[in-house]
Amino acid sequence: MINGERITAQAIRWAMVGGGQGSQIGYIHRSAALRDGVFQLVAGAFDIDPARGREFGAQLGLSPERCYPDYATLFAQEAQRPDGIQAVSIATPNGTHFAICQAALEAGLHVVCEKPLCFTTEQAEQLRQLAAARGRIVGVSYGYAGHQLIEQAREMIAAGELGEIRIVQMQFAHGFHSEAVEAANPATRWRVDPKLAGPSYVLGDVGTHPLYLSEVMLPQLRIKRLLCSRQSFVKSRAPLEDNAFTLMEYDNGAVGQVWSCAVNAGSMHGQKIRVIGSRASLEWWDERPNQLSFEVQGQPARLLERGMGYLHPAALADDRIGAGHPEGLFEAWSNLYYRFALAMDAADRGQPAPLRYPDIDAGVEGVRWVEHCVRSADAGAVWVDYR
Ligand code: NAD
Repeated sequence: MINGERITAQAIRWAMVGGGQGSQIGYIHRSAALRDGVFQLVAGAFDIDPARGREFGAQLGLSPERCYPDYATLFAQEAQRPDGIQAVSIATPNGTHFAICQAALEAGLHVVCEKPLCFTTEQAEQLRQLAAARGRIVGVSYGYAGHQLIEQAREMIAAGELGEIRIVQMQFAHGFHSEAVEAANPATRWRVDPKLAGPSYVLGDVGTHPLYLSEVMLPQLRIKRLLCSRQSFVKSRAPLEDNAFTLMEYDNGAVGQVWSCAVNAGSMHGQKIRVIGSRASLEWWDERPNQLSFEVQGQPARLLERGMGYLHPAALADDRIGAGHPEGLFEAWSNLYYRFALAMDAADRGQPAPLRYPDIDAGVEGVRWVEHCVRSADAGAVWVDYR
């Protein structure tokens, strides 16, 4: 159980790039990183607008001289201080991730980077090599991967409770962009601009989330080839898609599908994963995150409840309140930051990370998957080998 006890000798001195006032994801990074006292927010370049970023940093309680106009100044100035930052989280639009992540690693910092990590597999590989050469960790914020029931699913599948895995059905299909809301909303506008968003919209923005959940639950699966069809139902978004279906064949004969969508009218979030084996299935849905459905063929379905003593010890290790009260996105993110802190602390001592976390390999894989999906879709929805 996670209980706020100290897990590192000192809180890690931490900064943010992006995540400024009014940003969608800034607050949850701060809330997750600061919850267990493992990070201390000491500096930042929070906003594309330097004055707004400085003002926001002051509102967060930072010293004015540590609220910087841009990331380059942040990294350079902090490197001069005896109490300079040790880690940084990057929560800016996609098109900036590569350069900021590269600069942070070159400055000797541990990094938590938003997904998608960058635009191309080549860039992602460069970041992987740089992180390895510098002995720094790169965590990627696939938030729900920190939820204890994801861990439970992984353990049950590993124990063979589903039988032989046949089908992995995934979706992240919300309805918030069913109309061209980007006309009035800058945070949506950059998501449909290839210069800022990259080669895809929903594949990278939402599809990579359940894909990563499948990687956690089913570490043995390897994609052999995939086929993707993508559409821009709001025409002005072309060439970027607001809907996509991806079919995958795995090398062990199993198959998978990811539905990535922002135009699923009426749907709130719609992130689900269903793993189907020869004997039973498991299903988890982020709108009801405290229940894992376990359905054995020929038997009544069972709902496994978060926090209960019948769960695997690895799932209970991520528990914060015990059974009954709900735990959701915020707790899952806090669990991830807890793991990031342990990994950073271990790396500083030359040790391997004690707990799995969405690392640079997860970041590279997300970028690779999007790249293959786009290649398939733009060739007319054809099968492409996965390399
Ligand atoms: P947003 O547009 O709401 O906010 C972006 C923030 O970054 C703003 O404060 C902006 O001023 C700042 N910014 C932009 N360029 C900057 C720069 N060069 N230097 C410093 N600050 C800069 O965007 P958002 O929705 O918060 O998304 C940010 C990132 O987080 C994206 O990569 C997105 O894909 C990702 N995201 C991830 C999740 C998740 O669940 N992991 C959820 C939402 C968004």
